[in-house]
Amino acid sequence: MAEKRDYYEVLGVSRDASDDEIKKAFRKLSKKYHPDLNKAPDAEKKFKEVNEAYEALSDPQKRAAYDQYGHAGMDGFNGAGGAGGFGGGNGDFGGFGGFDDIFSSFFGGGGGQQQSATAPRQGNDLQYRMDLDFKEAIFGKSTTISYNREAECETCNGSGAAPGTDPVTCSKCHGSGYVEVNRRTPLGMMRTREVCDVCQGTGKEIKEKCPTCHGSGHQSQRHSVKVKVPAGVDDGQQMRLQGQGEAGVNGGPYGDLYIIFRVKASKDFNRDGTEIYSDLTISFVQAALGDEIDVDTVHGPVKLKIPAGTQTDTSFRLRGKGAPNLHGNGTGDQHVRVRVVTPKNLNKKQKEALHDFMEASGETIKPQDGGFFSRIKDNLKGE
Ligand SMILES: [Zn+2]
Ligand SMILES: [Zn+2]
Repeated sequence: MAEKRDYYEVLGVSRDASDDEIKKAFRKLSKKYHPDLNKAPDAEKKFKEVNEAYEALSDPQKRAAYDQYGHAGMDGFNGAGGAGGFGGGNGDFGGFGGFDDIFSSFFGGGGGQQQSATAPRQGNDLQYRMDLDFKEAIFGKSTTISYNREAECETCNGSGAAPGTDPVTCSKCHGSGYVEVNRRTPLGMMRTREVCDVCQGTGKEIKEKCPTCHGSGHQSQRHSVKVKVPAGVDDGQQMRLQGQGEAGVNGGPYGDLYIIFRVKASKDFNRDGTEIYSDLTISFVQAALGDEIDVDTVHGPVKLKIPAGTQTDTSFRLRGKGAPNLHGNGTGDQHVRVRVVTPKNLNKKQKEALHDFMEASGETIKPQDGGFFSRIKDNLKGE
């Protein structure tokens, strides 16, 4: 293991150097050897060495121990004199937490947003929820909606300057939107780029502000727009209306409006895309003998032929009675599911008819509930 260099020697200061002298030396050397700045192969090693020395000599307790015992005196301090360099969980090094930040702004890293401060930016997009009836979604409709948005100020046409005046190029940043600032950092004074505080990054200075928008160029506005809801929209779908959002910045275009459709459910129909589903209850007589029935569709009533012998849960298709395809031509179908209802609360005549039906079918059934059919039989005998 290589002999450790004397900390005072590392920092190039005398043994009776003041705290200030130590700090100054450290700043100079850490900048000189910072691996981001110095690409020499031993730069990082030297940088760590400088940091380690400063860590020891900037702390009065550690410095006293070092003065008395040399490097051996550092062993008593947790972790001190070890890795030295970056991480640094100790207080002295805490000031370096912002090290990366300082350098990234110094080199313009992450400064992309600052650079575009004066660039035109599109305004915010907005959302509008539109509730539709079941049928409105299927057939579409034309309507006008109103909502609040940030619009270009009508008094100044978005310039932010009072009528008759114009914004001028910012006197502080000369239109760039940002300024170079000297900042005190642990490494000394550094030049960093910041958003101009006079123009807030717009690069334009407004000497006389517009009385309506107070210089923002924007104005809250109740805005109305005509909307043609296309036939066949479905719950949860959205539609974009370009330029109906909020006003842009620095002369950028308006944002967009997204209309999100909420379609109310129907008590008669279910919809899945272009297909519509409905239930139809028929009597067992209709099911057995067949019938022609008026069925409701969203397009109006339609005749449906129920063939003789139809079973419950049979589905019938009504072509073209569904919802139109939103993206093309063609319309879906309606699917009618038949449910055969067993009659309840039969009167005497119905019971007799069923009994005859049973006999005609060659069917025998076990009487229930104390002899339902035997009572009928008794009745019949009695007459
Ligand atoms: Zn400025
Ligand atoms: Zn204005």
